[in-house]
Amino acid sequence: MKLFLPVLCCLFAFSTASLAQTFQWHKNPVIAHRGAFKKKNLPENSIAALKEAIRLNCYGTEFDVHMTKDSVLVVNHDNDHQGMVIATSTYAELKKLPLKNSESIPTLKSYLNEGKKQRRTKLILEIKPDQDPERMRQVTDAVVAMVRELKAQQWVEYIGFNYASMLRVLELEPTATVAYLNGDATAEKLKQDGFAGADYHFTKYKNSDWFSKAKELGLTLNAWTVNQAEDMQWLLDNKVEFITTNEPELLFEILKKK
Ligand code: MG
Repeated sequence: MKLFLPVLCCLFAFSTASLAQTFQWHKNPVIAHRGAFKKKNLPENSIAALKEAIRLNCYGTEFDVHMTKDSVLVVNHDNDHQGMVIATSTYAELKKLPLKNSESIPTLKSYLNEGKKQRRTKLILEIKPDQDPERMRQVTDAVVAMVRELKAQQWVEYIGFNYASMLRVLELEPTATVAYLNGDATAEKLKQDGFAGADYHFTKYKNSDWFSKAKELGLTLNAWTVNQAEDMQWLLDNKVEFITTNEPELLFEILKKK
Protein backbone atom coordinates (compact mmCIF):
# COMPACT_ATOMS: atom_id res chain seq x y z
CA MET A 1 0.00 0.00 0.00
CA LYS A 2 2.90 2.33 0.81
CA LEU A 3 4.16 1.89 -2.73
CA PHE A 4 0.75 1.93 -4.32
CA LEU A 5 -0.17 5.52 -3.36
CA PRO A 6 2.81 7.27 -4.98
CA VAL A 7 2.29 5.18 -8.10
CA LEU A 8 -1.40 6.20 -8.16
CA CYS A 9 -0.48 9.89 -7.70
CA CYS A 10 2.02 9.61 -10.50
CA LEU A 11 -0.55 8.05 -12.81
CA PHE A 12 -3.09 10.78 -11.97
CA ALA A 13 -0.57 13.57 -12.63
CA PHE A 14 0.38 11.95 -15.92
CA SER A 15 -3.22 11.58 -17.10
CA THR A 16 -4.17 15.19 -16.27
CA ALA A 17 -1.00 16.45 -17.99
CA SER A 18 -1.84 14.50 -21.13
CA LEU A 19 -5.44 15.75 -20.98
CA ALA A 20 -4.14 19.34 -21.06
CA GLN A 21 -2.30 18.42 -24.27
CA THR A 22 -5.44 17.38 -26.12
CA PHE A 23 -7.35 19.64 -28.49
CA GLN A 24 -10.71 20.84 -27.24
CA TRP A 25 -11.91 23.27 -29.88
CA HIS A 26 -14.69 25.56 -28.72
CA LYS A 27 -18.10 24.46 -29.92
CA ASN A 28 -19.55 27.76 -31.07
CA PRO A 29 -19.94 29.46 -34.46
CA VAL A 30 -17.92 32.59 -33.59
CA ILE A 31 -14.94 33.57 -35.74
CA ALA A 32 -13.30 36.89 -34.86
CA HIS A 33 -12.51 38.77 -38.10
CA ARG A 34 -8.86 39.95 -38.06
CA GLY A 35 -8.81 38.94 -34.39
CA ALA A 36 -11.09 40.48 -31.76
CA PHE A 37 -9.93 44.04 -32.34
CA LYS A 38 -12.90 46.37 -32.36
CA LYS A 39 -14.33 46.57 -28.85
CA LYS A 40 -10.94 47.10 -27.21
CA ASN A 41 -9.65 49.30 -30.02
CA LEU A 42 -6.73 46.97 -30.77
CA PRO A 43 -4.96 46.98 -34.13
CA GLU A 44 -6.53 44.54 -36.62
CA ASN A 45 -4.43 41.43 -37.21
CA SER A 46 -2.24 42.14 -34.17
CA ILE A 47 -1.03 39.57 -31.65
CA ALA A 48 -3.10 41.51 -29.08
CA ALA A 49 -6.28 40.95 -31.17
CA LEU A 50 -5.40 37.25 -31.51
CA LYS A 51 -5.04 36.96 -27.72
CA GLU A 52 -8.36 38.75 -27.21
CA ALA A 53 -10.18 36.33 -29.54
CA ILE A 54 -8.68 33.44 -27.57
CA ARG A 55 -9.70 35.08 -24.28
CA LEU A 56 -13.29 35.42 -25.55
CA ASN A 57 -13.38 31.66 -26.33
CA CYS A 58 -14.07 32.10 -30.03
CA TYR A 59 -14.11 28.95 -32.16
CA GLY A 60 -11.72 30.68 -34.51
CA THR A 61 -9.75 33.83 -35.11
CA GLU A 62 -9.21 34.99 -38.67
CA PHE A 63 -6.10 36.75 -40.04
CA ASP A 64 -4.58 37.70 -43.40
CA VAL A 65 -1.18 36.73 -44.77
CA HIS A 66 1.09 38.44 -47.33
CA MET A 67 4.72 37.92 -48.33
CA THR A 68 7.40 40.61 -48.33
CA LYS A 69 9.97 41.22 -51.08
CA ASP A 70 12.49 39.17 -49.06
CA SER A 71 10.04 36.28 -48.63
CA VAL A 72 8.96 36.90 -45.03
CA LEU A 73 5.31 36.01 -44.41
CA VAL A 74 3.52 38.74 -42.46
CA VAL A 75 0.06 39.19 -40.99
CA ASN A 76 -1.74 42.27 -42.35
CA HIS A 77 -5.01 42.96 -44.15
CA ASP A 78 -4.13 45.45 -46.90
CA ASN A 79 -1.48 45.06 -49.59
CA ASP A 80 0.36 47.89 -47.87
CA HIS A 81 1.47 48.47 -44.31
CA GLN A 82 1.04 52.15 -43.49
CA GLY A 83 1.63 53.07 -47.14
CA MET A 84 4.51 50.65 -47.79
CA VAL A 85 3.57 47.96 -50.31
CA ILE A 86 4.35 44.63 -48.65
CA ALA A 87 5.31 42.73 -51.82
CA THR A 88 7.96 45.32 -52.71
CA SER A 89 9.26 46.06 -49.18
CA THR A 90 11.61 44.08 -46.98
CA TYR A 91 10.50 42.89 -43.57
CA ALA A 92 13.14 45.16 -41.95
CA GLU A 93 11.55 48.17 -43.67
CA LEU A 94 8.03 47.21 -42.54
CA LYS A 95 9.20 46.54 -39.00
CA LYS A 96 10.29 50.17 -38.64
CA LEU A 97 6.59 51.16 -38.67
CA PRO A 98 4.95 49.78 -35.49
CA LEU A 99 1.24 49.16 -35.05
CA LYS A 100 -0.74 51.64 -32.89
CA ASN A 101 -0.22 49.47 -29.79
CA SER A 102 3.55 49.53 -30.52
CA GLU A 103 3.68 45.89 -31.67
CA SER A 104 5.71 45.24 -34.82
CA ILE A 105 3.81 43.93 -37.83
CA PRO A 106 3.51 40.24 -36.88
CA THR A 107 5.31 37.59 -38.89
CA LEU A 108 3.25 34.50 -39.65
CA LYS A 109 5.78 32.58 -37.57
CA SER A 110 5.26 34.69 -34.44
CA TYR A 111 1.49 34.67 -34.97
CA LEU A 112 1.28 30.87 -35.25
CA ASN A 113 3.63 30.39 -32.31
CA GLU A 114 1.37 32.59 -30.16
CA GLY A 115 -1.76 30.74 -31.34
CA LYS A 116 -0.18 27.38 -30.60
CA LYS A 117 0.09 28.20 -26.89
CA GLN A 118 -3.54 27.10 -26.57
CA ARG A 119 -5.71 24.34 -27.99
CA ARG A 120 -9.25 25.70 -27.99
CA THR A 121 -9.38 28.43 -30.66
CA LYS A 122 -8.60 27.66 -34.31
CA LEU A 123 -6.39 29.88 -36.44
CA ILE A 124 -8.27 30.79 -39.63
CA LEU A 125 -5.51 31.67 -42.08
CA GLU A 126 -6.42 33.73 -45.15
CA ILE A 127 -3.83 33.68 -47.92
CA LYS A 128 -4.21 37.04 -49.64
CA PRO A 129 -4.51 37.05 -53.44
CA ASP A 130 -1.62 38.09 -55.67
CA GLN A 131 -2.18 39.32 -59.26
CA ASP A 132 0.79 37.29 -60.49
CA PRO A 133 -0.12 33.56 -60.59
CA GLU A 134 3.52 32.54 -60.15
CA ARG A 135 3.92 34.68 -57.03
CA MET A 136 0.53 33.49 -55.77
CA ARG A 137 1.85 29.95 -55.93
CA GLN A 138 5.10 30.92 -54.17
CA VAL A 139 3.21 32.62 -51.34
CA THR A 140 0.86 29.63 -51.00
CA ASP A 141 3.74 27.15 -50.91
CA ALA A 142 5.61 29.27 -48.35
CA VAL A 143 2.54 29.50 -46.09
CA VAL A 144 1.93 25.74 -46.12
CA ALA A 145 5.65 25.11 -45.51
CA MET A 146 5.63 27.46 -42.50
CA VAL A 147 2.54 25.79 -40.99
CA ARG A 148 4.30 22.45 -41.40
CA GLU A 149 7.61 23.69 -40.02
CA LEU A 150 5.83 24.84 -36.85
CA LYS A 151 3.73 21.67 -36.75
CA ALA A 152 0.65 23.89 -36.60
CA GLN A 153 -1.55 21.86 -38.97
CA GLN A 154 -4.05 20.96 -36.23
CA TRP A 155 -4.66 24.64 -35.39
CA VAL A 156 -4.90 26.04 -38.91
CA GLU A 157 -7.82 26.20 -41.32
CA TYR A 158 -7.19 27.87 -44.69
CA ILE A 159 -9.34 30.39 -46.53
CA GLY A 160 -8.74 32.44 -49.66
CA PHE A 161 -10.27 34.31 -52.61
CA ASN A 162 -7.91 32.76 -55.15
CA TYR A 163 -9.26 29.37 -56.24
CA ALA A 164 -5.94 28.10 -57.63
CA SER A 165 -4.19 28.99 -54.37
CA MET A 166 -6.73 27.04 -52.33
CA LEU A 167 -6.43 24.04 -54.69
CA ARG A 168 -2.66 24.23 -54.22
CA VAL A 169 -3.11 24.06 -50.41
CA LEU A 170 -5.20 20.91 -50.86
CA GLU A 171 -2.59 19.45 -53.19
CA LEU A 172 0.22 20.08 -50.68
CA GLU A 173 -1.80 19.23 -47.57
CA PRO A 174 -4.70 16.97 -48.58
CA THR A 175 -6.07 16.71 -45.03
CA ALA A 176 -6.22 20.51 -44.54
CA THR A 177 -9.56 22.20 -43.89
CA VAL A 178 -9.98 24.68 -46.75
CA ALA A 179 -12.85 27.06 -47.54
CA TYR A 180 -13.29 29.40 -50.51
CA LEU A 181 -14.21 33.07 -50.07
CA ASN A 182 -15.05 34.51 -53.46
CA GLY A 183 -18.69 33.46 -53.73
CA ASP A 184 -18.55 32.23 -57.34
CA ALA A 185 -18.19 28.45 -57.01
CA THR A 186 -21.18 26.12 -56.68
CA ALA A 187 -21.54 23.77 -53.75
CA GLU A 188 -21.05 20.81 -56.12
CA LYS A 189 -17.79 22.26 -57.46
CA LEU A 190 -16.41 22.90 -53.95
CA LYS A 191 -17.33 19.39 -52.88
CA GLN A 192 -15.80 17.83 -55.97
CA ASP A 193 -12.54 19.76 -55.48
CA GLY A 194 -12.10 18.72 -51.84
CA PHE A 195 -13.10 21.90 -50.05
CA ALA A 196 -14.53 21.62 -46.54
CA GLY A 197 -16.98 24.38 -47.26
CA ALA A 198 -17.93 27.81 -48.52
CA ASP A 199 -17.02 31.02 -46.72
CA TYR A 200 -19.04 33.59 -48.66
CA HIS A 201 -20.37 37.08 -48.05
CA PHE A 202 -23.56 36.45 -46.08
CA THR A 203 -25.79 38.00 -48.77
CA LYS A 204 -24.79 35.16 -51.14
CA TYR A 205 -26.84 32.78 -49.00
CA LYS A 206 -30.01 34.91 -49.21
CA ASN A 207 -32.76 33.67 -51.54
CA SER A 208 -30.70 30.62 -52.41
CA ASP A 209 -30.65 26.90 -51.64
CA TRP A 210 -27.16 27.14 -50.09
CA PHE A 211 -28.26 26.03 -46.62
CA SER A 212 -29.98 22.83 -47.80
CA LYS A 213 -27.40 22.17 -50.52
CA ALA A 214 -24.45 22.43 -48.12
CA LYS A 215 -26.14 20.12 -45.64
CA GLU A 216 -26.90 17.60 -48.38
CA LEU A 217 -23.27 17.59 -49.56
CA GLY A 218 -21.68 17.75 -46.10
CA LEU A 219 -20.10 21.17 -46.66
CA THR A 220 -19.73 23.72 -43.88
CA LEU A 221 -20.98 27.28 -44.37
CA ASN A 222 -19.19 30.29 -42.96
CA ALA A 223 -20.51 33.81 -43.57
CA TRP A 224 -18.54 37.10 -43.64
CA THR A 225 -18.47 39.80 -42.39
CA VAL A 226 -21.59 39.84 -40.23
CA ASN A 227 -21.82 42.74 -37.78
CA GLN A 228 -25.57 43.32 -37.35
CA ALA A 229 -27.63 41.40 -34.79
CA GLU A 230 -30.50 40.66 -37.23
CA ASP A 231 -28.14 39.16 -39.82
CA MET A 232 -26.49 37.02 -37.12
CA GLN A 233 -29.91 35.82 -35.97
CA TRP A 234 -30.98 34.97 -39.53
CA LEU A 235 -27.81 32.92 -40.08
CA LEU A 236 -28.19 31.13 -36.73
CA ASP A 237 -31.83 30.35 -37.54
CA ASN A 238 -30.59 28.74 -40.74
CA LYS A 239 -28.02 26.68 -38.81
CA VAL A 240 -24.96 28.17 -40.45
CA GLU A 241 -21.77 26.58 -39.03
CA PHE A 242 -19.67 29.75 -38.67
CA ILE A 243 -20.10 33.50 -38.59
CA THR A 244 -17.10 35.76 -39.15
CA THR A 245 -17.58 39.08 -37.40
CA ASN A 246 -15.96 42.25 -36.14
CA GLU A 247 -18.38 41.97 -33.19
CA PRO A 248 -17.71 38.59 -31.53
CA GLU A 249 -19.00 39.93 -28.19
CA LEU A 250 -22.40 40.77 -29.76
CA LEU A 251 -22.62 37.32 -31.35
CA PHE A 252 -21.89 35.67 -28.00
CA GLU A 253 -24.68 37.78 -26.41
CA ILE A 254 -27.15 36.56 -29.05
CA LEU A 255 -26.04 32.96 -28.57
CA LYS A 256 -26.56 33.26 -24.80
CA LYS A 257 -30.20 34.29 -25.31
CA LYS A 258 -30.96 31.33 -27.57
MG1 MG B 1 -9.45 38.26 -44.22
